[in-house]
Amino acid sequence: MVDPDTPTTSFIHQIVRADIADGKNAGTVVTRFPPEPNGYLHIGHAKSMCLNFGIAHDFGGSCFLRFDDTNPDKENREYVRAIQTDVRWLGFDYTGHLTHASDYFDQLYVWAVELIDHGKAYVCSLSAEEIRATRGTLTKPGESSPYRDRNVTENLDLFARMRSGEFTDGAHVLRAKIDMAAPNINLRDPTLYRIRHQSHQHTGDLWCIYPMYDFTHPLSDAIEGVTHSLCTLEFEDHRPLYDWILENVSVPCRPRQIEFSRLSLDHTVMSKRLLTTLVDAGHVSGWDDPRMPTLSGMRRRGYTPSSIRTFCNRVGITKKDQRIELSALENCIREDLERIAPRRLGVLRPLKIVVENYPEDQSEEFTVPNHPGDSTMGTRTLAFCREIWIDESDFMEHPPAKFFRLAPGREVRLRYAYYITCSRVIKDNSGRVTELRCHYDPDSRGGGTADGRKVKGTLHWVSARHALDAEIRLYNPLFSVADPRAETDFDFHDFLNNESLVTLGKTKVEAAMEQHSTGECFQLERLGYFCVDPDSATDRLVLNRTVALRDSRPKTHT
Ligand code: ATP
Ligand code: MG
Repeated sequence: MVDPDTPTTSFIHQIVRADIADGKNAGTVVTRFPPEPNGYLHIGHAKSMCLNFGIAHDFGGSCFLRFDDTNPDKENREYVRAIQTDVRWLGFDYTGHLTHASDYFDQLYVWAVELIDHGKAYVCSLSAEEIRATRGTLTKPGESSPYRDRNVTENLDLFARMRSGEFTDGAHVLRAKIDMAAPNINLRDPTLYRIRHQSHQHTGDLWCIYPMYDFTHPLSDAIEGVTHSLCTLEFEDHRPLYDWILENVSVPCRPRQIEFSRLSLDHTVMSKRLLTTLVDAGHVSGWDDPRMPTLSGMRRRGYTPSSIRTFCNRVGITKKDQRIELSALENCIREDLERIAPRRLGVLRPLKIVVENYPEDQSEEFTVPNHPGDSTMGTRTLAFCREIWIDESDFMEHPPAKFFRLAPGREVRLRYAYYITCSRVIKDNSGRVTELRCHYDPDSRGGGTADGRKVKGTLHWVSARHALDAEIRLYNPLFSVADPRAETDFDFHDFLNNESLVTLGKTKVEAAMEQHSTGECFQLERLGYFCVDPDSATDRLVLNRTVALRDSRPKTHT
């Protein structure tokens, strides 16, 4: 798969190219995408995947999908499965390259023992709180643990007993012996292992000690022969520790860590922790709620994998903060759907028209193209009869200047069908327009007239007798502010957009929609792109609006 927008000029591409030119790693390139299975993947992860799988592809290398599963607390198999589905859906093939950090627990244990043997790690019996309190600050060095000088034999014995389950959670940890006065706090004797009597989604009850991320990650990279370990900027301060681990353990190779900036998207949040809160508190219907920035949410909403890849490649890889407007993503979706989505007619807020001079017992069909710009997509038939629906917003009793749609006495074109003229407006007691009476011109079949007269408005419509009922869900941004996390006293409730989901229960769509199955996308002309939601059933059609035809949101700058 080659995307036209692949940023082969990113600074990481340049580094990899230079490494190959220098003959490093015998010219091979191996990367990895290492999600922790503690939630579903979001579009930030898509950026990381496009980079990691992209670099491997561009340089003829390989990329691992590695579950970074060192913390049994928040990880589970549902997440493991969902992540694999999402990676494949986005278009990345990890066949033969699916691993877990927990596959390496035996080897990691051996390497921890090696560090102890070499006097480079010790069992510390301070509590987590005491360790935190003695770590020092940016301006103050840390204090050495009273257990720092335990001898090798005692350390080996205690570590083995930690593993065999003799101690309770928190009784001891294994710490690297580096430098309590290091300016970089990550080097002040970081914890390498902790005791946690808890089942693990992959290793079950085999272990009751679990290695920390900072210990596990460089070593897993080394085991897999990763040449370039690409991660986000918050790991920059951890790089000296990453390198220390690799230098002090007998690893088979020396991966290189390179950092890039995280992707942030306006009007949403990207951390799995916050997304979990949204799901658990019921603010959304689940991880795949179409308002979520998750890949499963985007899939359900009708976003295509190729448009997400295009978006990720366009935003590019830099070290600068990356906060992107939603419209940049939506433009990529529109570009893709414009090309591939068949056209249909539908009406969101139906207003009845009775065509008075069209016989009651008559109906007819028009053969119309599925895509105006692509004849290979074929045709379909549209039924027409005496009663039709148009959108409420396409009629005004007292139209202002520049309103070219239907009004009393005015003639407009019904897309693909006839010219009609509005002759009478029917209202209910409250003065609300409930129905329009019109006349059609039988000579205007297909949308033109013998005398060549022109009309300014063309309306979408559906035949009342043939149309299907549908529920349509319109989506707006999940948060009312561009960067909810930047707000002081961040609390979801304050910034959640009450109108993020607008459900229209009584919409009408053309009969051809009956053939569509879950996930299929199409354009409802003049209204946007839609797809069939899995909530649909044989007698119930539920459509999601994927994206409107153009961005009608006011620009927000915060
Ligand atoms: P989150 O809490 O948002 O899930 P994370 O970094 O804890 O972030 P991981 O599952 O550890 O999530 O991430 C897997 C990989 O994806 C990591 O290499 C991480 O750097 C990368 N990643 C995560 N979020 C983003 C983002 N917003 N932009 C780019 N890369 C990201
Ligand atoms: Mg994480």
